[in-house]
Amino acid sequence: MNLHKLLFTRNECYIAGQPLNPTGIMVHSTGANNPNLRRYVNPDDGLLGVNLNNNQWNQARPDGRQVCVHAFIGKLKCGGIATYQTLPWDMRGWHSGGKANDTHIGFEICEDALTDSAYFAAVYQEAVELCVFLCELYSIAPENVICHSEGHKLGIASNHADVMHWFPIHGKNMDMFRADVKRAIVGTGLSPSTDAEPTIRVLTTRTDNVVHIMSLEEYLRGVVPSEMPASWRPEALKAQAVAARSYALKKIESSQGKPYDVDDTTKFQAYRADRIDPRTDAAIEATRGMILTFNGKTAETVYSASNGGRTRAAKEVWGGYIQYLPAQEDTFNAQAKNGHGVGMSQHGAKARAEAGHDFKAILAFYYPGTEIERIIPSSSQQQTSRADYQALIQSRCAFSDPTAVWAALNAHKFADEIYRKWAESYTK
Ligand SMILES: [Zn+2]
Repeated sequence: MNLHKLLFTRNECYIAGQPLNPTGIMVHSTGANNPNLRRYVNPDDGLLGVNLNNNQWNQARPDGRQVCVHAFIGKLKCGGIATYQTLPWDMRGWHSGGKANDTHIGFEICEDALTDSAYFAAVYQEAVELCVFLCELYSIAPENVICHSEGHKLGIASNHADVMHWFPIHGKNMDMFRADVKRAIVGTGLSPSTDAEPTIRVLTTRTDNVVHIMSLEEYLRGVVPSEMPASWRPEALKAQAVAARSYALKKIESSQGKPYDVDDTTKFQAYRADRIDPRTDAAIEATRGMILTFNGKTAETVYSASNGGRTRAAKEVWGGYIQYLPAQEDTFNAQAKNGHGVGMSQHGAKARAEAGHDFKAILAFYYPGTEIERIIPSSSQQQTSRADYQALIQSRCAFSDPTAVWAALNAHKFADEIYRKWAESYTK
């Protein structure tokens, strides 16, 4: 989709500024042989070209009519196809001649003489992408994408033939259009809340000796309280949760072709479902999806009970040099060494948390040079993400600099794939 924005601020409909909570989309076509956007959308922004007849819709009553749609699809001056948003999506439009104005976003496709199949294919695809975008934005079911003539049959629009006087000429109808919208939505994944969480295969030697498949977060609920007393400070528990999550993810990444990712013993990480505790649950939830990465790859966040006052380098213990697992003095580890001493000391983490260090500081000491990243959204992110993305999309429609759009979108690590694709196409 090649989406631009030029709001019809002079149109009486825009000036009325009534709100709309969109639950459907109505597809129109203009009914006149003029595929150029500048016929309807002006003033010229350099891409549209100048409307010499001054009959564009950015005036109080275009052609003397009280009429306004949310967008037009048609040709730019250069011949390329674009969509111009002409009303805020959540402002009531005047497009249906019926009740659909209260519920539907309406857009027009500029008609040619209805003969150019290449033009039709291009604007059809553009219209599909616009509908996918809007369905995503407002959680509109593709079934609620209708054309003006269908709206008339439903009793919510005036008696117009669009778009069914045109689409069939090129072998399309609205059922096919809806199917294409639906396919595109399914093909790109719906929303962040439906993103699959990573799962882990756990061999439970302690109980039934069966491989259990569970979400990574669920697995951690049995790991964190088995690896660290739940009575320890929350920041220590959070550091443990992040380290355990990264460690587990590293195992998941490296165990393809094997029958399980981890077992429930300290050979990997201790896992006991009977130790689940609200305090460690809280630490897991607070760090939901957070892992440590180094140079963009999941870090091998090994840890042990105590290093005796000095962490040991991975190279000393296992022979392989790992930059973020160096030997360094640990003034917070008073206990005798217990374990390999590489990476995080659990007793050191406890002492640091008691001294007021937060989990990020604790992890930064024990795994220097690593960064915290999220592999799944936090719960609050999941709840607010749609609103965030909606705001982002609304705002980015106003961006004139595609690079800024892309940067803003990329800042949302969990932006829907569809939006990413949208931004990619926008920046091309
Ligand atoms: Zn119409």
